[in-house]
Amino acid sequence: MAHHMKTLLKSATNGRDVRFGRWIHSTTTSHRIFSWNQMLVMTNINETIGSQLETTHKSQSLFNNKNLISMTEKGLYILMPLVVKAMDKLVDIINDEMLAIKAQKISMPSLVSKRLWDKSGRWSESREELFRLKDRQNTDLCLAPTHEEVVTHLISAAKHLTENHLPIYLYQISSKFRDELKAKHGLLRGREFVMKGEDEVFKCNSCDKAFNAELIATRQEVECMFCSSHDLTKFNAIEVGHTFLLGNRYSEKFDAKYTANETKAKNIYSMGCYGLGVSRILAASVEVLSENHSIRWPYALAPFKVCLVLPKKGSKEDVSNGTAFTQDFANCLSNVLNEDILVDDRINQTIGRRLAGLETLGIPYTIIGGKRITDEMPKFEVIDNQTKNNYLMTQLECIQFLESVL
Ligand SMILES: [Zn+2]
Repeated sequence: MAHHMKTLLKSATNGRDVRFGRWIHSTTTSHRIFSWNQMLVMTNINETIGSQLETTHKSQSLFNNKNLISMTEKGLYILMPLVVKAMDKLVDIINDEMLAIKAQKISMPSLVSKRLWDKSGRWSESREELFRLKDRQNTDLCLAPTHEEVVTHLISAAKHLTENHLPIYLYQISSKFRDELKAKHGLLRGREFVMKGEDEVFKCNSCDKAFNAELIATRQEVECMFCSSHDLTKFNAIEVGHTFLLGNRYSEKFDAKYTANETKAKNIYSMGCYGLGVSRILAASVEVLSENHSIRWPYALAPFKVCLVLPKKGSKEDVSNGTAFTQDFANCLSNVLNEDILVDDRINQTIGRRLAGLETLGIPYTIIGGKRITDEMPKFEVIDNQTKNNYLMTQLECIQFLESVL
């Protein structure tokens, strides 16, 4: 470990030894440093949605925090850069997991012609919720809320596919469009989640199965729908995904067939679809982890794990080159930890004032270029934002500490 650490440090600091607190000058510019003024420049807008929500949900802090979420008008939310960054991390995880099961990522169109929807019979079935529009040639189109038609059309055109190719996994990550009664379309469907994204679920203590309370709402006495036991535990749940066995409902209508190995017969595909609410997973995990009005992200999804706070402009630390020192340390950390680092460069504000706003973002660790960075052996103040413990650490100690916790 010690050897490994040295190698890491050497590569991160161009061979310079940082153990004695010498100043680091990395010649390679890291592309993974984000400045507050770059990431969060939009934060001084007046509209926030928190006041419009009547909810005691913990993730309200997510919605109340204008650094994270804003709104244009009732029901339409804008995800600010930090939330988008967390979502990107979640999408990376999903992509990795899909790759592991050999799924292929595709991108399907948002605008789909009526012809495909007529074929499945859903153009006339789904009356209200489908966004319908026409192009300039007067062709009927819809904004696709789901893509069964498109993907079945695609698979039906691939005539060369045989039993050997099965199962075929295709997936996409996209926005869904639904003309819903209460405005909640768009990426986040935020109001739906915060206001009621929650179901009551019973878990059976006899057979260990769980089921939605809605399924048994009409019964007088609550019993397990699988084994009729009355030994049930009720808890709240959030729907973050669903599965549907489509069978041949679409493949038959689209004449989607593959060739069987032995008989060479053309067989109709059996299909299934699985939906994950990407933004819901994010919101649900914040809901589970956060406390009162303090955001806490799942570790893997935290937009940044570390924020470095630069000295105030004109302060003793600043004029003694402490700002460049702290900035350089950000580069070093980014390289050694292989993490994106946020640098709080609101240098016209005092550090104390900046920390108050920083606390609400849920970044696990704050490192402050404070008074002690002008010491002969410079020390940073490190705050564990979860436990609120703080420590004074040299650069090396910072690196060792963060390597042990990240
Ligand atoms: Zn049961």
